[in-house]
Amino acid sequence: MTYDIIVLGSGPAGLAAAVAARGRDKNVLVVGNRWQDSPLARAERVDNYPGLPGRTGFELMEEFVRHAQALDVAFVVGRALSLLAWNGFSVTVGSQVYQGKALILAPGVVRAAKYPGEAEYLGRGVSYCATCDGMLYRNKPVVVVGLAPDAPSEANYLKSLGCQVTYVSPHEPEGLEDIPWIKAGRLAVKGEQNVTGLEADGSPLPCSGIFILRRAVAPTDLLPALKTEEGVIQVDRGMATNLPGVFAAGDCTGGPLQVSKAVGEGHVAALSACAYLDAL
Ligand SMILES: Cc1cc2nc3c(=O)[nH]c(=O)nc-3n(C[C@H](O)[C@H](O)[C@H](O)COP(=O)(O)OP(=O)(O)OC[C@H]3O[C@@H](n4cnc5c(N)ncnc54)[C@H](O)[C@@H]3O)c2cc1C
Repeated sequence: MTYDIIVLGSGPAGLAAAVAARGRDKNVLVVGNRWQDSPLARAERVDNYPGLPGRTGFELMEEFVRHAQALDVAFVVGRALSLLAWNGFSVTVGSQVYQGKALILAPGVVRAAKYPGEAEYLGRGVSYCATCDGMLYRNKPVVVVGLAPDAPSEANYLKSLGCQVTYVSPHEPEGLEDIPWIKAGRLAVKGEQNVTGLEADGSPLPCSGIFILRRAVAPTDLLPALKTEEGVIQVDRGMATNLPGVFAAGDCTGGPLQVSKAVGEGHVAALSACAYLDAL
């Protein structure tokens, strides 16, 4: 099935966008990590969202999700690992691919700084997606940098393909199946034409591939042609980005980093996406 709109991010901006798009009778898929783990769900008390003072962030999020669910918004819980803008948009989550005609980016602020060498070797040995690229490294040594809860199962998957997997992370992982673990946090990608290894707390780990599995992938890593300035996605007043059919809303477009701004932008982005679809 091809959705009218795929929303990447299940925070206030993404959910507001989904609600607004359903109001225009578009079918909508929201792809996002568990909302219970979202930044707002950690807020002890939110007092500046109009009409609903004194709620916890968790309670507000619960209401937002319930509203979207009641309007038959479709949800996929998981990390968007890759995005292809061709004939609409294809979003990969785990081993599944979802198609949409328009895309709204609402991933919040993806804070993780990159490791030295990571950007340089992206696509030349560095990957964010075991499902997409695992087969390229069959019978070869790879390192999984595990920074997301599902990273051990991704490492097990790579092993099942025949990759020789080493797992590196700052904390002891759970669920690894016969895969060596190295505790390290200071990492650097090393290579020549392609990746040749990972330096982990000063020690070399020779390998052909490095899978860096964070909780979220930055939108610019998913869509490298996306225009940003000082780390935020550039949008016009209709929340359109520089890429046709791609809109953005919420913290990812810059401050103030607040729920009401995220919700308002999500609403505008959805209306613009609907207008884009109607004009197609
Ligand atoms: C502790 C705390 C207290 C706060 N208190 C207040 C307050 O009192 N009032 C206020 O107005 N604001 C407050 N904020 C700020 C508010 O939470 C944010 O401004 C708001 O949540 C932004 O919404 P968003 O939808 O843009 O992004 P987010 O809420 O960050 O949602 C984005 C979601 O997308 C997910 N995501 C990102 N990339 C991917 C990917 N590749 N695949 C799948 N999912 C992905 C993220 O995991 C996240 O769940 C607080 C924030 C924190 C952390």
